[in-house]
Amino acid sequence: MTSFCPEIWPEDTTPAIELDCQDCGLYQQGTRMIWGEGNPKAPIMVILDNPGAREDREGNTMVCGTRQTLQQAVHEVGLSKDQIYVTYILKRRPVRAYDKEQTRDICMHRHLDEQLKLQKPALILCLGNVAVQSFFENTEVDVKSLRGSWHEVKGYQTTVAYHPLAIRRRPNLYTLFLEDFTFVADKLVNNKYTF
Ligand code: SF4
Repeated sequence: MTSFCPEIWPEDTTPAIELDCQDCGLYQQGTRMIWGEGNPKAPIMVILDNPGAREDREGNTMVCGTRQTLQQAVHEVGLSKDQIYVTYILKRRPVRAYDKEQTRDICMHRHLDEQLKLQKPALILCLGNVAVQSFFENTEVDVKSLRGSWHEVKGYQTTVAYHPLAIRRRPNLYTLFLEDFTFVADKLVNNKYTF
C-alpha cells in the first residue's frame, strides 16, 4: 500500500423532511441519521449496509476502519474523493438487535430509491453481502458470485465488492478489493462519464 492519510469526508445534509423519520424501529436506538458523505454529484455511488460512527464518544470527529479502507482503495486506483458519494441502506447505525429484513426494506425504499432518482449516479458499487442482497432485493446473491461484472439494478449499472470490514479482518482479500475498485475506475474512464 502507498502512504496515504484518510480524512473525514463532508457529510451530506439530511433533507429536513427526513430528519425525524421514524418509519422503522431504528430511530429508537439513539444513533443519529447520516444521509451520506462525499460529493452528492459524484458519478460513483457507493452503498454500504449502514453508517459507521463519524464521532467518538466525546464528539470528536474520527475516521472509522470502514472509511479508512475504502479511502485507501479509492486513492490507490487513482480515483478522487470528488468522484465518490457514499450512502447506506440504513441511514442510522444499529446498536442493538432489530428486524433486519423489514427495517432494510423500509429504509431502502423510503430513502435510497429517492436518492437515486435525485442524484442519478453513473455507476453503483455495493459493498458487502448485506448491501448487495438488499439492493439487488435477492437474498440468494452474494459478493463472491457477482463481483467482476456489471449488473443492471433499478436501471443503474451496478457492481459489487467485499465490505471494507471484511478486508480488515482478512487482509488477503485486499487484492480483490483493489481489483473491484479498478474495475469501477476503468469503466468511468472508458465510458467518459462526467459530473
Ligand atoms: S433507518 Fe431509515 S426508515 Fe428507519 S428511522 Fe432511520 S431513516 Fe427512517
